[in-house]
Amino acid sequence: MMTVHFTCKNCGSGIHVYPSLEANRIQCEICQTQQEVHFDQNHMEAILKDCPCCQRKDFYSQKDFNRKLGVIIFVVAAIISTIMLWYGLGPQWYLSTFIVLYAMDFLLFRRLNMIAICYKCATIFRNVSNIEQVPGFNHEMNDRIVYADHNFEGKPLDPH
Ligand SMILES: [Zn+2]
Ligand SMILES: [Zn+2]
Repeated sequence: MMTVHFTCKNCGSGIHVYPSLEANRIQCEICQTQQEVHFDQNHMEAILKDCPCCQRKDFYSQKDFNRKLGVIIFVVAAIISTIMLWYGLGPQWYLSTFIVLYAMDFLLFRRLNMIAICYKCATIFRNVSNIEQVPGFNHEMNDRIVYADHNFEGKPLDPH
């Protein structure tokens, strides 16, 4: 099932919801601010065509990168190399630790799922069934949507 991660317009907290045809309002757990949502049958089938928050049709896809995991891997590598240094092992040993952990990070990163994000309101969509139809991030589109309030109506610019 598709999961939707809204950003509270008032305090910026994340609000996680599953699409539901009955739900037309969501409430922020932090500041209790309510905002309107518009779920339709497409959302119930994990098809992303319209944003349930701002009702735009312009999205981009990216890897669901877990920043915390990257930090943990880096800390583990630092601890291991400190221990190696303590035991008097040469730099080639702790350098190789970093390389191994970097490779692990790379493999984990590559295996991560793709997510779709709304240009206009930054709502994040996970487990989108038509994710292949969502193009990658386009700087020009982002600038025109965010700064000039342009609406591409779901017709992305050709990537250059
Ligand atoms: Zn809030
Ligand atoms: Zn939106």
